[in-house]
Amino acid sequence: MLENLLERNRLWSRSRQDEEPGYFSRLASHQAPEFFWIGCSDSRVPANVVAGLDPGEVFVHRNVANVVHSSDLNLLSALEFAVETLKIREIIVCGHYGCGGVKAATEDLPHGLADHWLEPIRRQARYHARALDQHSDIEVRRDRLAELNVIEGVSRVAETPIMRRAWRAGAEIKIHGLIYSLKDGLLRDLGCTIRRSDLPNSEERAS
Ligand SMILES: [Zn+2]
Repeated sequence: MLENLLERNRLWSRSRQDEEPGYFSRLASHQAPEFFWIGCSDSRVPANVVAGLDPGEVFVHRNVANVVHSSDLNLLSALEFAVETLKIREIIVCGHYGCGGVKAATEDLPHGLADHWLEPIRRQARYHARALDQHSDIEVRRDRLAELNVIEGVSRVAETPIMRRAWRAGAEIKIHGLIYSLKDGLLRDLGCTIRRSDLPNSEERAS
């Protein structure tokens, strides 16, 4: 298995180098991505591939069910580096339909540590229970919950001291919420973008 993977890597490296001589030495010298992607660990939703981006174009953080925990040091470290060092312009929180993490959050079965991790999704399910219950199909309910988890994630990123500081300093960074469909390979904009001008009071906007 591993030998197979290494062989595929060698083929990829060779064809990339043939297509664009000097590609790796250019990429090795620096990275200047425009995007920071917060997505699900699901193997079917790799940021570069589904967004049609090349290596060097998107800085990525992924976890089970793209949950934004405001105390997640891994996510916060990546966010801080993306905002303060890489100076990215667009942050994308991306969920997907048919998400196993969202499904687990709607089940009563014990999932071990994942139950702690997925608690914010359970909270969203409780908070929006009445609206979710209007859908009789459980898959539709879970997909709607996946959307709500993205929208909540966008708000949580916006509330981090990292983003508050960056916006106060004048950075025009936008945070978008997208959802990906495994069935057609398309990303959809959930229309929950938060930008600097959305900050609640003028004091925050003063640079
Ligand atoms: Zn998922």
